[in-house]
Amino acid sequence: MNTLIISRLFIPVFSVILMTSCSKKDAEELVPLPYTEGTVRIAKWKDDKKAALLIQFDDSTPGQATLGVPAMSKRGLIGTWYVNPGGEYYLLHKDIWENEAPAGNQELANHTMTHTGASSYDEVVYEVGEASKAIWRIRKEEDFASLIAFNRGGGTSWNEDDLKKVLEEYKNIDRLSYTGVKIIAKTIPIGSNADAMYELIPIAIEDSIICSIHFHGISDDNDGDDYGNGAVWVVEFEKFLDKVLAIKDEVWNTGYISMYKYSIERNNASVELVQYSNVQYGVKLSATTDDKYYNESLTILVYLPADWEKCEVNNDGSVKTYTLTNGVLMFNAVPNKSEVMIVKK
Ligand SMILES: [Zn+2]
Repeated sequence: MNTLIISRLFIPVFSVILMTSCSKKDAEELVPLPYTEGTVRIAKWKDDKKAALLIQFDDSTPGQATLGVPAMSKRGLIGTWYVNPGGEYYLLHKDIWENEAPAGNQELANHTMTHTGASSYDEVVYEVGEASKAIWRIRKEEDFASLIAFNRGGGTSWNEDDLKKVLEEYKNIDRLSYTGVKIIAKTIPIGSNADAMYELIPIAIEDSIICSIHFHGISDDNDGDDYGNGAVWVVEFEKFLDKVLAIKDEVWNTGYISMYKYSIERNNASVELVQYSNVQYGVKLSATTDDKYYNESLTILVYLPADWEKCEVNNDGSVKTYTLTNGVLMFNAVPNKSEVMIVKK
């Protein structure tokens, strides 16, 4: 009991001596204080939003290209489009898929070259690998430069071992992968109205989970047909998009790979808040993931002393001033970069 009391008394004195001796040695060197007035955490979702929303499309149908892509892009919404780069529909609107869609910040994903499945290893390499190479070319990247979302296509058959091997080699992530957070998903039936498309989103917000809405065709009249694909009417589709826009502050609408990277990085990250003085802090964000493929920025929340109104943040060389509410600072940072420095203004 006595020893415990003595050590409690002595630790603060010892710390003060250490700090003094360091600051005398080198006044410029930043020395962390032995305490931190504040805490830090990684937000569950980007920008501390309540849920993640994926809007996904299969088959690169003509209606998706001519109606869907512009409707999404003009609203600043992001969809994940599983395309067949060797398929007839894709080739009809190649320019939209390869230029307009990426210019509108849309994510192209792998739905295999021709949507036919594969019966040999070489066919798997063609169906998965060639589509991947097409997508990297569209992204203006080298082969194997980034992760690609994958969906094998309904009704197709594969040798599971071959497929697994080729997906790994080509950095494809099956969209059914588990990221540690529950996904609720809905495939939108032919002729659905906007309310039916929207119905899962409030549940995802309530539970702070991932909501995935899957579309097939989009048609310019209400006949449920997009070149032989079951479709929703573009008028209802756009009504749905406007409902999503209205709650954009609550849901993080992003592409599949961006959500996937965020989740995996967060699961493998650690964040530390260091205090150097009453006016200077640092945030160290690291993750054990491979920086080449896992480069999504994570949202960091720093709880600083409540009287801080403004601070300057040096985040990997970019310096910005933030206005705080109740001492809470929020910014996005990529893991394994230099320490983010925060200075009170
Ligand atoms: Zn399909």
